Amino acid sequence: MYPQIEINLEKLEDNARRLISLCREQGISVSLVTKVLAGNKEIVERLASLDFSHIADSRLENLELFKGIKLPKMLLRLPMISEAERVVETADLSLNSEIETIKALNKAARELHTVHKIILMFDLGDLREGVFYRDDYSGLIREILALENIELTGIGANLTCYGGVIPDQDNLNELIAIKNKIETGFGIKLRIISGGNSSSLYLLKKNQIPEGINNLRIGEALFLGRETAFGKRFAGLHEDAFILKAELIEVKEKPSYPIGSIFMDSFGKIPKIVDKGPMRRGILAIGKQDVYPENLIPLGDYEVIGGSSDHIILELAGDLKVGDVLAFRVNYPGLLQLMSSKYVHHVYL
Ligand SMILES: *Cc1c(COP(=O)(O)O)cnc(C)c1O
Repeated sequence: MYPQIEINLEKLEDNARRLISLCREQGISVSLVTKVLAGNKEIVERLASLDFSHIADSRLENLELFKGIKLPKMLLRLPMISEAERVVETADLSLNSEIETIKALNKAARELHTVHKIILMFDLGDLREGVFYRDDYSGLIREILALENIELTGIGANLTCYGGVIPDQDNLNELIAIKNKIETGFGIKLRIISGGNSSSLYLLKKNQIPEGINNLRIGEALFLGRETAFGKRFAGLHEDAFILKAELIEVKEKPSYPIGSIFMDSFGKIPKIVDKGPMRRGILAIGKQDVYPENLIPLGDYEVIGGSSDHIILELAGDLKVGDVLAFRVNYPGLLQLMSSKYVHHVYL
C-alpha cells in the first residue's frame, strides 16, 4: 500500500552501533533521541537492545508508548507545570531550566514517593532553552539542592537548534566551567554532562570534545546518517535507512506555466513558477498533509516542483507512467512529517 515508508532496521542498527562505539571511545554515553519517530515502537524496541544510556523524547505521549522498554526515559522538552505528575510517572529524568517547574516536579515526586532526576540546561548562546550561561545561577542551584525529591543529576546544553550556533571548544568549555563551578561551589558531583546533539559529532571526529562531557543526545545522525553542524554526511553511516515510496496517479505533457491570472496557491502562497515550455508532469498520491515537497530527495529521474494538501507534482524525465512507484530519501523535517502522518504505511526491511 502506498504511500509507504520503508524502514531498514539493519541499517539503523548499523548506524547506532557505529555512533555508540565512536562515542564510547571518548567516554561518552549516547541517549537515543526518538522524537522523529512519532512513537514508533518497532524501531525503538529494536534499537533499545543496543548500548544506549537513555531513550529520549520531547513528548510524554511517546515515552508512555515506550514504557515496556528497559532503558531509562529522558524527557527532552522542558516539562509543562501542568503535566508535572505525568512527567514523574513516565520519565526517569527530565531536562529543566525553570525553578517553578522543578518545584512542581518535586511536589509530584514527593506525592509519588520517589525522587525525580533532572538535568539543568544552560543556554550557551543558541537562545533556545536553558539558563543563560552568563547569568548568576548560584541561587538557583542552592534552591534545587534544597528540594528533597529532586536529584540534580547533571547539566546540559543544546546548540544548533534555534540560532544555528555550532558547538565548538569555546562554548562547550563554558559548560565544563559551569560544571566545575557547581561541583566545587556546592561540594557535589554532577554525573551527566550532556554536550548536545548530532551537531556535536563533528567535534568527536576531530577529538575535540572537551574532557568532562560524557553524554550526547543523538537523533538525526542515527536516523539519517548526517551530522548537523554543517549538514554533511557522517562517514560510515547509512543515509538511506528510510525510503519513501509513492504512486503516480497522473502523467501528462502540459505547459510548465499556469494559464490564467495567478494569485495564491492552496496554502496561501504566491507561487513562483518558471516557464520552461511544455513539460512531462506527474502527480503523486501524497501531499503536504503527509510531507512538505521540499523535504523530499528524489532517487531517480524526476524533480519535485510543488504540491498541495494531497498531491505532490513532479517534472518527469524518462518514460514513467501512471501506476509507477517512485522513491525518495527524506530530510529530518520530512521524516518527522512522514512518521507523524497516519496515511503513510510502515514497511520494515
Ligand atoms: C532533538 C533534540 C536532540 C537531538 O537532536 P539531533 O539533532 O536529532 O541529534 C537533543 N537534545 C534536545 C534537547 C533535543 O530537543
